[in-house]
Amino acid sequence: MSSGSTADPMFQRTQDFGDTPTEIRETDHYQHEYVHDFVERWDDLIDWDGRAASEGSFFIDVLKHYGCETVIDAACGTGFHSVQLLRAGFEVASVDGSPQMLTKAFDNARERGFILKTVHSDWRWMSRDLVGRYDAIICLGNSFTHIFNEHDRRRTLAEFYSMLKHDGILILDQRNYDALLDGKTGGPSHKFYYCGEGVSAQPEHVDDGLARFRYEFSDDGSVYHLNMFPLRKAYVHDLMHQVGFQRVTTYGDFQSSYREDDPDFFIHVAEKS
Ligand code: SAM
Repeated sequence: MSSGSTADPMFQRTQDFGDTPTEIRETDHYQHEYVHDFVERWDDLIDWDGRAASEGSFFIDVLKHYGCETVIDAACGTGFHSVQLLRAGFEVASVDGSPQMLTKAFDNARERGFILKTVHSDWRWMSRDLVGRYDAIICLGNSFTHIFNEHDRRRTLAEFYSMLKHDGILILDQRNYDALLDGKTGGPSHKFYYCGEGVSAQPEHVDDGLARFRYEFSDDGSVYHLNMFPLRKAYVHDLMHQVGFQRVTTYGDFQSSYREDDPDFFIHVAEKS
């Protein structure tokens, strides 16, 4: 299978999926997708103000409900949730496998008056890079979907499980891939979650093993892609239970009651005990 790019991701400015982009189905490839130019545009894509308004206090309320004080933001990206949680008084470790993302997150936080505790680590061996046990781990923004094989998914969830205190929680979100795979997303007008003004995010290719999304920025016409694995909701539940989580509650677009096809995103709250 083609790996798309062999360049050192630290020095790669543009994406390179090779000649057959839909063949790239590798867990490690995220390193080559979050290249400098895409990371620089990420905040236009997620739109901090719009996202804060649409999420409201959902995550903070859940964390407070479980009495959490210490949190690992396992896929911190450009730092949106880390900053929200620091502002709300949580102690946060900001983890990401992409050095470009971590640099951007650190700068974003500093501009807002916070110093991030950043940790460069891949989830699959996170316990090597981060010591201690935490009250909660968040893995948000459809990040877990970057893993392409079951072994790595189990390993990641097991790492998360082991880094939680005995009564800790994991909050992990994902796109509603069931609706996408089953052709129930409501057509091309469907809005795909967080998306700033002047950015379009659309699935370009979907099959049982790949959801390839295209992100286009209207101001300069730049186009980026992410190759992700289309996780079915029931499958994620099963995996979470299999690694030891006792109870998993799933919200649809931040609501506890929803019709399966409607939400764009599912948010799983998995309890360790
Ligand atoms: N949570 C952020 C947000 O919502 O804006 C970023 C989401 S972005 C879709 C996915 C993030 O997960 C990227 O920053 C990427 O580097 C990180 N990531 C993907 N696979 C990873 C892995 N195996 N280990 C650590 N980080 C990973």
